[in-house]
Amino acid sequence: NDPFSTEVKPRILLMGLRRSGKSSIQKVVFHKMSPNETLFLESTNKICREEVSNSSFVNFQIWDFPGQIDFFDPTFDYEMIFRGTGALIFVIDSQDDYMEALARLHLTVTRAYKVNPDINFEIFIHKVDGLSDDHKIETQRDIHQRTNDDLADAGLEKIHLSFYLTSIYDHSIFEAFSKVVQKLIPQLPTLENLLNIFISNSGIEKAFLFDVVSKIYIATDSTPVDMQTYELCCDMIDVVIDISCIYGLKDDGAGTPYDKESTAIIKLNNTTVLYLKEVTKFLALVCFVREESFERKGLIDYNFHCFRKAIHEVFEVRMKVVKSRKHQNHM
Ligand code: GDP
Repeated sequence: NDPFSTEVKPRILLMGLRRSGKSSIQKVVFHKMSPNETLFLESTNKICREEVSNSSFVNFQIWDFPGQIDFFDPTFDYEMIFRGTGALIFVIDSQDDYMEALARLHLTVTRAYKVNPDINFEIFIHKVDGLSDDHKIETQRDIHQRTNDDLADAGLEKIHLSFYLTSIYDHSIFEAFSKVVQKLIPQLPTLENLLNIFISNSGIEKAFLFDVVSKIYIATDSTPVDMQTYELCCDMIDVVIDISCIYGLKDDGAGTPYDKESTAIIKLNNTTVLYLKEVTKFLALVCFVREESFERKGLIDYNFHCFRKAIHEVFEVRMKVVKSRKHQNHM
C-alpha cells in the first residue's frame, strides 16, 4: 500500500531542440550521472516515455522528444500528452543561436495552452556555465522579451512563462527542478507550515525536505534559500546514500540503503551541524543547526517525531481523497 502511487505524482514533460541538453538533465538529476559523462550520450531519436524510478517521490514521467516535434504528424497525439501534463519544461541551449528554439517554443506553448491552459510553462535557459555573469543576464532578458513579444503578437499575453538559468555543472539544475516540482505539489503550503513550526520550536536555522533519489527539495521553511546551504545538504545526501549503498547492504545485496533508521550527523568547522533523518521511504529532512542548539538534541528529536507523523498524515489524507474521487468516477 504505497501512499505515493503514480496517480498523485505530477507529470513533467521535458522538451527542446536536439542537443539542447534534455537527456543530460535527466541523467544527472535522476540517475546520478556525472556531468562530464553526458558528453558521450547518444542523441535521442524517438519519443521515449521515461518512467523515473519508483524510488522517487517525484515519480513523474519525462517525455524526451526528438529535436523536431511534428505537430502536423497525425500519428503524434500531442493533445493526449498535454492533457496529462502538469509542467512543460522547455530547454534552450544558451550557448547556441536560439532563434530556432524560440520559434519552436512559441509553437509548443501555444499548442499546449489550447489543449490544457493549466500547464505550467517552465523555460530552462540551459548550459549557462559557458556564459559570463553579464552575458547570462543579457541572454535571459533577451529571451524573456522575445518570447513575451511573440505571445503578445499572437494575442496570448495571458500565458505565463517562468525562466531559470541552468547548468548541469552546478546545483542550478537541481534548484530549478525543485521549483518546478514544488509548484505541482498541492500540499506545499502545509509542508512549509510544518517546517516553519518545526524549526522555530527546535532552534534550527534551516530545514529542507528532500527527495532522496533526485536531491530535489520538495519544500523548505520560509527563511531564504542560500545556494551554499542547499549544496551542502545535497552533498550530505550523496555521502550518506553512497556509503550506505557500498557498505550498508547485506552480502547478498538484501536490504535497502535508505530506511526508517537512516540518520546522519555531520559537524562542520563553523560551529554548525548538518542533521539528516528519514521522513518517508522517499523523503529525508536535512537541517542546519547551530552547535549550541544541537545540544538540545532530545528536543529536536521529539519535535522531529511529531513533524514526521504530521507529514505522514498529510500524504495519507491526500491519498484517501484521490482514492475516493476515483471511486466516485467509477460509479
Ligand atoms: P538532447 O539531445 O537534448 O538530449 O541533448 P544531450 O543531453 O544529448 O546534450 C547535448 C550536449 O550538451 C552533450 O554533449 C552534453 O554534454 C551537453 N550539455 C548538456 N547540458 C549541459 C550544460 O549544462 N552545460 C554544458 N556546457 N553542456 C551541456
